[in-house]
Amino acid sequence: MNVADSEVVVSILNRAGYSQAEDINDAGLILINTCSIRDNAEQRIWGRLRAISHLRKKRKDLKIGIIGCMAERLKEKLLETEQLVDLVVGPDAYRELPILVAEAEAGHKAVNVLLSREETYADISPVRMDKNGVSSFVSIMRGCNNMCAYCVVPYVRGAERSRNPESVIKEVKELYETGYREVTLLGQNVDSYKWIEKDKILGFPELIENVAGITPLMRVRFSTSHPKDISDDLLHVIARHENICRHIHLPAQSGSSRILKLMNREYSREWYLDRVNAIRTIIPECSLSTDMITGFCTETDEDHKESLSLMEQVGFDFAYMFKYSERPGTKAARKFKDDVPESIKSERLSEMIALQNRLSARSKKHDIGKTFEVLIEGSSKRSEEFLSGRTSQNKVVVFPQVNKTRGEYVNVMIERCTSATLIGKCI
Ligand code: SAH
Ligand code: SF4
Repeated sequence: MNVADSEVVVSILNRAGYSQAEDINDAGLILINTCSIRDNAEQRIWGRLRAISHLRKKRKDLKIGIIGCMAERLKEKLLETEQLVDLVVGPDAYRELPILVAEAEAGHKAVNVLLSREETYADISPVRMDKNGVSSFVSIMRGCNNMCAYCVVPYVRGAERSRNPESVIKEVKELYETGYREVTLLGQNVDSYKWIEKDKILGFPELIENVAGITPLMRVRFSTSHPKDISDDLLHVIARHENICRHIHLPAQSGSSRILKLMNREYSREWYLDRVNAIRTIIPECSLSTDMITGFCTETDEDHKESLSLMEQVGFDFAYMFKYSERPGTKAARKFKDDVPESIKSERLSEMIALQNRLSARSKKHDIGKTFEVLIEGSSKRSEEFLSGRTSQNKVVVFPQVNKTRGEYVNVMIERCTSATLIGKCI
């Protein structure tokens, strides 16, 4: 999401006559895009700010700005207590950047962290910053209307708003024309995408169907689905279109219905498993990944075991796992005590990671002997003699060079695997 936002920012500044510096030492303006989701993400930004503060001493005219979620959350601290920054610009104020930069250049502190109910940057063509030129991201909505008790996103990125579908289609077509072959549609809860025009409502299943219809050569991914909202309609659309990837990221957060209720996730363990069942039935070859939080307020050993058993039962192909990090202002911070000791959070996290490593290994072993269509992304990191790409299920595959290049599709038979990669040969 932050990459997609940075691309919008680059586009806005390009239009205003700025260009990107190749080297940080040559830059007249440094903008740091930030995330507030967990405390350690914020701590890294403070570290980065201190690390670049020496550049200010050398070059008096250098301006430094913080953009994104942290700008919204910590504007006073950033500008006053720390004195490390000249600009603070929230996620809905990027159009103002040229004016704000000019203000900063005139020696004033420039701030705009107002959140908007409408801003989607629909008309701005992002300047692509990805490295491979094959896969890219397109934001289809901003903000979030859910109130998960632990989460700061609704406070720092504002209310949910969907982007005009025509602008999404136009952007994906442009990506295709410039050589991209994979697009990931992004939103905090893509299943609640909704565009209303003249009494007609267009939801996510219709949007993704339209995007997939642009060309069968463009793979379509999406993230993130919310278990409470993912519909059979969407699953049927995926099943009908081969170019919609067979991978769903469905964050469970916990396997305990009691904790899920406290988290305000609006589904139970049983509901989650029912959705997984629907996915397995409608799209049998689909891979599944998840996000899990350990040590949320009041989490007992029993609750933790339920998280592990959910992971085992589903057999996730991949997971992002986090220790609960209390975020100021959220419902959990206001109403519940962060009462699971750090050492127990860490222990539970390690146990969870060990389990997921086993599940991921099992999922890869399962692929040995099968053939997958792979979209080539470039040479393998280890060796120029190998190409690397991903399957529709989002697994990385490495195979010996053939007469094909990035952006092309090949069929690869999987012969073996390492902990992170499938290895095979073209057939
Ligand atoms: N909108 C997505 C997730 C956005 S945040 C969804 O609803 O699934 C990405 C992930 O960060 C979340 O899925 C959650 O696992 C994690 N996360 C969010 N807030 C957190 C917190 N306070 N502490 C630890 N992890 C958190
Ligand atoms: Fe946060 Fe929940 Fe919204 Fe995801 S759905 S961004 S976890 S509030």
